[in-house]
Formats: sequence, C-alpha cells, structure tokens
Amino acid sequence: MKLSPLAILLPLASGLAALQAAPAKVSIGSSSEDTAFETKTTPPPASNDAATGATFKVIAGTPDPNSAPLAALNDGKIPRSDDEPSSNFFFSGGGRILVDLGKAVDVATIASYSWHSGSRSGQFYQVYAADGTAKDFVPEPGAGVDPEKSGWNLIAKVDTTANKPGQHAASISPDSGKSLGNFRYVLFDIQKNPKEPRFNDTFFSEIDITDAAGPELVRVVKPKKITQDFASKDGKYTYTLDATEAPDLQEWAAKNLIPVLDVWYPKIIDIIPVEGMKPSSHITFTLKDITSVSGMGGVPAYASGNSVVFNTKFMRDQAGGEAIGAGIHETVHVVQFAGERAGGEPRGRGKSRPPTWVTEGVADYIRWFLYEPEKHGADITARNVKQSHYDASYRVTANFFDYVIKNYEKDLMRKLNLATHDGYSEDLWKEWTGKTVQELGAEWKKANLDRLGLKE
Ligand SMILES: [Zn+2]
Repeated sequence: MKLSPLAILLPLASGLAALQAAPAKVSIGSSSEDTAFETKTTPPPASNDAATGATFKVIAGTPDPNSAPLAALNDGKIPRSDDEPSSNFFFSGGGRILVDLGKAVDVATIASYSWHSGSRSGQFYQVYAADGTAKDFVPEPGAGVDPEKSGWNLIAKVDTTANKPGQHAASISPDSGKSLGNFRYVLFDIQKNPKEPRFNDTFFSEIDITDAAGPELVRVVKPKKITQDFASKDGKYTYTLDATEAPDLQEWAAKNLIPVLDVWYPKIIDIIPVEGMKPSSHITFTLKDITSVSGMGGVPAYASGNSVVFNTKFMRDQAGGEAIGAGIHETVHVVQFAGERAGGEPRGRGKSRPPTWVTEGVADYIRWFLYEPEKHGADITARNVKQSHYDASYRVTANFFDYVIKNYEKDLMRKLNLATHDGYSEDLWKEWTGKTVQELGAEWKKANLDRLGLKE
C-alpha cells in the first residue's frame, strides 16, 4: 500500500462584512491502492451525512455521456474498481453542481472523493455556500456568474492534482470551531484537471456534507476479505477462492466448483503439455462483481496469468448450468499461457502466436468434448451449420477441432498448444494433416451438411 498524504492549509481571508463562512482548511489524502478512501489525513465517505438526502442538480456544464447519474454522488456507495464510469459522476469539460440540503444546516465538513487509475483522479474545484437570505442571492448561478457577487460565500479551493492517480479525498473543515457556517445551499464549481491534456474531467465517487448537530456518521468500510485455501490430495497444487464480493457463493464454490477444477487442472496439463514448462502450482479463483464495470458486464469469466475471475452475476445465474464448464474453459487458459519454458526462449518473441480462434477453440474443445461431452454444447446442428466456419472461435472451432482429431491428428490439442509457445503458422496444418486449414474447414462443413441431409 502506498499512501501519499498531503495536507495543505488554505485559510481564506476575507474582509467582507457580509461573510458568514468561517475560515476553512482543506485536508487532502490519497492512496494508489484500494483503501476504500481511508487515508492518513481524511476519513472515508459517510453514508448518512446531510448530503445523503439532499437534492443535487447540474446548473452549468454537461455531464459526460458515460457518467453515472448525479445520484452516484450521494448514494453512500463507492466504486469497486479504479476505472468505473458507471459509479462516478463526471462532466465533459467542467461544470457546476448545486446541492440543496432542504434546510439550513450547521455545516461541519464538506468532503469529496474521486477514484481513477489515470488522468481522472485529480480534483480541482471551488466550493461555495449560502443560506439563501442575501438580498442579491442568485439561487442558481450558472456559467459565467460570479457566485461571490451573487450572495454566495467562497468556502475553499480544492486541488488534489499534485497527487498520484488512485483514490483522492479532500475534506474541508473549519480552521477553528465546529462549523463552516449555517448553510442550506452548497455549490461546487468543478474544473477540468489543468495538469492533464485530455480525459481530464474528474471521476467523482461521493460528496459528503456533514451536519455539526449529528447524527453520528456511518463510514464506508472496505469489505473484509473472504478467502479459503485448498490443496490437491497429492499436495502438488494449491488454490485460493476469493469470495469477498460474493459471500453467498462461497459454500457453493467450495463444494462444487473448486473440487472439479482441482481434478481437471492436472488433467488439462496432461492434455496440452509443453516439455520443460511447469504451469503454476497455485491458482486464485475470484468471484467478482463485474456487472458494473464498463464493458465487462456480460463477460462470464476471464483468466490472467494464474488468476481466474468469475462474474458473480453469471455464477449466480448459472450455478446449476454453465458455471463449472466456464471454470474449465478459463483453467485451460491458465495452462495455455503459463510462464516461460525453463531455459527456453521467451514465449512468442519473434514468433507468431496462434490467433485467438485457435486458443479459444482449444479451451472450448477441452470443455465441451472432454469435460462435459454429454451436454453436446458444441454440436453443429441444422440451425447453425450454414453459418459454421472453422475459425468462428469457441464452440464452433471446438467442433472443427473434434473433426480434425477424429479424422487426421489425434495429438492436435498438444500440437496446437505447443504452437502457443514455439510459434504458429498455417503451414502447420498441412504438415500435420496433409491439407490446408481451409481445405479441412470445407471438408468438415460438408461432412456436417451431409450428416444433416442439407445442402450448402
Ligand atoms: Zn476464453
């Protein structure tokens, strides 16, 4: 964990007689890790502060089309990962947000939280407050209107852009005393991060406004890690199940998923061995709520190195269906892309790797033809035969591989996987079968059409 706390004091001196705001200080905290916004200098967001029930409104600027609705700012929830547009509010080119607390409140602190792995983490804004009683009060000072000339008090200027990307927090509190002042309205005048040339509108995750009169604040806490370790009977392999984001699936996964994958991991290694190369002796299986991660919602699972991540929504929906098969598929990827060969050349350097349809086809062949052939999940039927193409990937390619294995090359899985490490070229198909992959593909399709009594 890296913490780079930077507390700056920013007292706002003002000689204005009408000023109702007490001088404020801005504390800034940041973390490049997921610490649920807990930093040495700033508290985590609260879920029962005065902003929770307040009305938020954009009064200048345009929200980015990929932004979450404004409600993300006061829902008491924080994003799950460091690049989650759907859990953050962000403008396209800056703007102003008006908060109406519904009644005058003795404001103790104002805090803002943002999170991004890159250029959208830094906060750069001014915050104003008003009780709405000034004679010249403008309730919705739009773009170009100076709030200070419209019955508003400047409370603080916030700038967290000097900190590294990650979780940023700014907490504004009175320099002395208990309250920043008695206010009903709070106005955030948000600018783009001036240090970033592009993608510079901040991902705001939460805004808190606390009432000096209470209640006692309930702070967001990072969920406790729920992990369970497993070992194969021979002690050769160990597995970790991380159910932090899906405690409800832990028991199911421990009973039904991990034992199957434990049996199949060494089997898969035997099906596609690479001489001199040892796949990892440990795999982490993580149940992750990725439905809200942009572009990932529909992904059932993915593998990276010796880590497999399961989409909790998919696993809940498919616990009695496709869940375990998807685990087999991803475990094949762990074996396929296992580390480098001892003493050998680094994988893929200067050599072509097989196209994705090949590696996905291998993963689905092992799943549908070796692990669960009784389900016939990769059958070519009258419904899909006409569109079937050998390089369509996944199940269709798995069916093509099955044809080649039965008719030409029993050792196809091992040979294809070897090509993942030693280099792939289409010439290999001719070498193995005497035919080009296109000829094999046409032959396979014709055999399916004949079997189904159909014509091209
Ligand atoms: Zn895959």
